[in-house]
Parts: sequence; C-alpha cells; structure tokens
Amino acid sequence: MNTNHAQLEWQNNQPYSSLYGDVYFSSDSGLAETQYVFLQHNHLEQRWKNLNSDIFTIAETGFGTGLNFLCAWDLWNKVAPKNATMHFISTEMHPVSFADLEKALSLWPELASLSKSLTEQYHDLFPGWHRFEFDQSRVVLTLLVGDVNRTLPELNAKVDAWFLDGFSPAKNPDMWLQPLFQNIANLSKKDTTFATFTSASVVRKGLESVGFVVSKTSGFGKKREMLSGCFSSAAQVNSSINKERHAIIVGGGLAGASTAQAMAKRGWKVTLIERHEALAEEASGNPLGVLYPRINAGDSQLNQMAAQGFLHTLRMLKRIPIKEESIHYCGVLQLSFNQREKSRIESVLASNNPFACEVDAVKASELAGTPLNVGGMFIPKGAYLNPAALCHALTIHKNITIQTSNCVLNLKRENEEWQVWNETMIVARAPVVILASANDTMLFEQTAHCRLQPVRGQISLLPATSSSASIKTVICTDGYLTPANSGYHCLGATFSPNDCAIDVRKQDHQINLEMLKHLAPAIDTYTPDQLEGRAAIRCTTSDYLPMAGLILDAQALKQQPPRPNSSSTQLKKMDGLYINAGHGAKGLVNAPICAEIVASLINGDPLPVSKSLAGALNPNRFLLREMGLKKLATSLIEPS
Ligand code: SAM
Repeated sequence: MNTNHAQLEWQNNQPYSSLYGDVYFSSDSGLAETQYVFLQHNHLEQRWKNLNSDIFTIAETGFGTGLNFLCAWDLWNKVAPKNATMHFISTEMHPVSFADLEKALSLWPELASLSKSLTEQYHDLFPGWHRFEFDQSRVVLTLLVGDVNRTLPELNAKVDAWFLDGFSPAKNPDMWLQPLFQNIANLSKKDTTFATFTSASVVRKGLESVGFVVSKTSGFGKKREMLSGCFSSAAQVNSSINKERHAIIVGGGLAGASTAQAMAKRGWKVTLIERHEALAEEASGNPLGVLYPRINAGDSQLNQMAAQGFLHTLRMLKRIPIKEESIHYCGVLQLSFNQREKSRIESVLASNNPFACEVDAVKASELAGTPLNVGGMFIPKGAYLNPAALCHALTIHKNITIQTSNCVLNLKRENEEWQVWNETMIVARAPVVILASANDTMLFEQTAHCRLQPVRGQISLLPATSSSASIKTVICTDGYLTPANSGYHCLGATFSPNDCAIDVRKQDHQINLEMLKHLAPAIDTYTPDQLEGRAAIRCTTSDYLPMAGLILDAQALKQQPPRPNSSSTQLKKMDGLYINAGHGAKGLVNAPICAEIVASLINGDPLPVSKSLAGALNPNRFLLREMGLKKLATSLIEPS
C-alpha cells in the first residue's frame, strides 16, 4: 500500500519531474495550455451548454498537479446545467506530495477556491481507488492511484471526453503502449472525444488503430502540433437509467440510509421503508459504533474494502449534516494481546500501511489514558460515533421520503415496475428496489439464494468510574471498549452465530467482562448484575465480504444453467432489484461505499471501486459457486 510519490524539482518556479525529465505543463502558461489543448479541443464549453444528460464523464491519464481537473471544474461551474454531475476520473502512478500540490496550485490565483477544496481532501493517496466529492456532489473526482495500464482495465465507466496527458511519449514510452489505446477504446462510446498535447505518431497511429478519427492541429506555445479527435466505431451504449428515477429501499439501518443518500444525491426520488417505528432500530441501533479499518498485510479484496471503505466514510462524514458531538475522532488502538494478533499487527506494520503506526506498551498506555500490558498499533484517524445519528443525517434530503412501521413481505414485478407489498397491500411501486434488510433479505423469494448468516452480538454498557474515565481512545482486542460517553463505556461484542434472539443475557455480559481484562486491565472490576446492555443480530457472509449489486434470476439460471465460460451479460437478471447487505460488524466502513457501488450501477455512472472489487461483492456469488460457475461468481453483474 506504499505510495510512490512524485519527485518534483522546481525550475523557475515551475514543477518538473526528475524521474521522467519532463515538465508538468507548458512554461508559457499551464492554465492557458489546459484551456486550449484539453477543454477547447474536447469542445467542452459547447457540449456542456447543450448538455442533455445528467452525467458527463472525463477521464485523464496523469493527474499530476490537478490543474486540468480544476480547469474543467471551473468551466463546468460556469456553463453546465446546475442539476448535472461532472465525473472526472484520473489515473496517477506517482501522486505529487501535498506540499508540492499546494505549491503548484498556488501558481493559479484565479482557481484559488477550487484549489482549496481539492487540497482539503488530498491526503492518504495510497495505491487504489479514491473518490472525492465537491459542490454537493456536482463534481466527483475518482483518482486511480496506480499505473494507467493496470488501472484502466479495472475501470467501469463510459467516458465522454479524454484528456490524454502523461509526459511526452519520448520521455514516458512505457505508458503510451498499444494496450493503453485499446483500454481507451473499451471505455469510449460513439462520439467520445479526446485531446492530447502530443502529436507523436505512436499516439496518432495507436488511437487510429482502435477506432478514433484523429486530427492534427496547431499546438500550444512552443509545440508545433497536437492531436484531437472522436471515437467512431462503438455502438451507442444503452442508457441504464430507467424512465422513472424512483427507487424503493427496504430497511432503515446504515445500509438503507446510506443507499438512500447515494440515490437521492443523484437526483432519484427515494422511498425508504422501515418496519420499526424509527430508523436504526436493529444492528445499527447500538449506542456507539467504532469506525476503523480492520486490515491485514497484502492487497486482498478484504483489505481493499477496509481501506477504501474507511476513507470513503471519513470523507462522507465531512459532507453530511451530522452533529459534531455525534462523532469522536479519538483514534483506535489495536493491541497485540495474543500471538495471532501480534503476528497480524507486525505484518501490517511491515507492509507500510498508511493508517497505522506502531506503539509499545508505554506509548499505548499514554494514548489510551489507562495502563496497558502490551502495545500494538494505533490508527489515529479511527473514531467512534452514534450510528443512529449517522442514519438520520444520511436521510436528510428533499428527495427522500421515509415510511416507518411498514413491514415489507413480498416483491412482485409487473409492467417493468416492482410492487412492494406488506401483509395486505402494495405500499410502494418503482422501477428499482434496493434491499437493505440484512438477514431478512433472504425471506424474499427473489433473494432467498443470498446465503446471509445471522450472528448475535451483545454489548455491555459499563458505568464510568474514576479509574475508567481517563480512557481517551477506543481500545480493541477481539472486542472493543470505547471512552466514556454520557457516563457509559460501550464494551463488546459477543459473537454467537445462528442465534437470532435479542434478549440481554448475564452470561454474555460475563463474556464481555472477560474481554475487558485485556482491554483495560487496570480499571475497576464489574459484575454482570451491575450492567445494562443491548443485543442485536448482525448480518454476515461466510467470505466476510458484503453483498452489493444486482440480483440474478435464480430460477432462470437453474432451469437453463449457463456454460462456465458464459459472460455475465448473458445471465438473466431481476431487472431493477439490488441488494446492499452482509456488513457484519463493519457497517460503518462497508455500508456507505457499497451504497455508492449500487447507486453507480443503477444510475450508470463510474464505479467508485475497481471492477474486480465490485465483482467480489456480487450478491449472487454463493448461488453461482454452488452451480460450479466460479468465474461468474466474482464477475460484476451490470444492468442490461
Ligand atoms: N494533468 C496534469 C496536471 O493537470 O497537472 C499533468 C500531468 S503530468 C504532465 C504527467 C503525469 O502522468 C505525472 O503526474 C506522471 O506521474 C503521470 N504518469 C506517468 N506515467 C504514468 C502511468 N504509466 N500511469 C499513471 N500515471 C502516469
């Protein structure tokens, strides 16, 4: 996960790459160059003034200092319709450091307010997918940190305009290879345009060979010529957007609330249906939840989920109207309390992960505010918060209507529309339904194959004492203890698979108190009789990954089993039926990013994660595996 930052030199106050021996932009005026080469030759002003779509997607090779992004954003603000969203996707192998970015962007005072918004979010750029949202999500930046020849094949998007930047082919021959041109073509559609500062024949020939019509025109400044053009050979893509932009979401916990927010901000009308009298009454109803990435060494999909989900939630918390007092950015300590945890923590620390630093027992005790026998690792950005407050903040939106005390029991599809039934009647109809109903998702005939697994968890509320009140961070072993909040520490949680009862049990308090011996050995002791608590049922999966995506027609699959080498496009889908569930104890990290994945699939905008990661969350994977269709089990299922 170690980021390979750019090595910049400053020559006459202009950024220069010592690695590539090339400039980031023209010394005549980087800003004028961007406007001339990339904006003008993609005809953005005219296209945006006449835009008849809700989304416009630009993709760039080489984010560099972000100048092209800011110029596009500036023009978008000036001319694009106010209800449309600009997606800007850029891929960057060597992100410039925060200090260099600030210094480079200070060259453009006319872009100062946009630069400030970008620099505020420009941190933690480890390899992988990063998403940033600006101007109430009217501008979305997806930054793919990695080599363009590895990131573009993993991108799920339809690009309207390409900014082909990335140092000259003579200085950077490894980037401008034939696979790059093929990847660009794969992500293009009829009338996708491109512009590039270079006129090198390898670029012209490469683009022509994959279907672009290429023109040479005068270059900017000292450059004699540049290239621009249009894609001609792809068929028009089918818009995946339904006629009526209305979605019903079943379930008002974190998964449902974050999906409601993800859809509403894309302009969809949302009906959120919850069976209890209020939101966040089940697993999301614990008084406190801990937000931190549970990471291992290596680049597994579980790790990618943990890292990207954690950063996604942190960034989201800055955008939504949640009260400051509901979140406590106190950091999270993970203790090497047994050999297994010690090995895991050592391997994470050895892998240079960007979130955690090593602490010995002395430092850990100092951070925690209580004497500890062992050290481990500290995640400074970790936090604890009130999940119900988060659910409420996520659903404050003019497009969201909440129906509580309504229990959905049945789904029927008629005339390209889903009817959502309670015991006696249709409670809502819409072309799209998203099930965020945790384990009960399996009660619906269409999603009975999803193999979600209930796990009971009980927390104990410990009254704060003079010896415990000094605790300052969340402390984790195989359980967790929060600092005191409203007079109580939250201690938890038990783990009882396939137990669906929610009574509060003394023996479970006892299990939690056993964990406390490692978590905070020096505080006063408690007895189970003194304690109050809460039990809830988590919804888990056997591979620990959540389920996010489109549901397949299980009956049709079984009647006519596809061949193992079939493509996912050939599978019969339950049009308009999606799921966001299976988050286990990681709802704060997983549910919001899964909500973005589901909403992007429905709305037809670029996915916030790689195709491989989205494929690993395929909600049909257990059914497909049982049918021997291993490859399809981890494929991304897209709407037809
Ligand atoms: N568009 C940038 C801006 O607005 O400031 C300038 C881009 S600069 C000329 C070229 C960038 O391409 C550098 O940041 C470099 O690290 C990046 N780059 C070069 N080769 C790459 C590759 N194979 N994959 C991804 N990025 C690459």
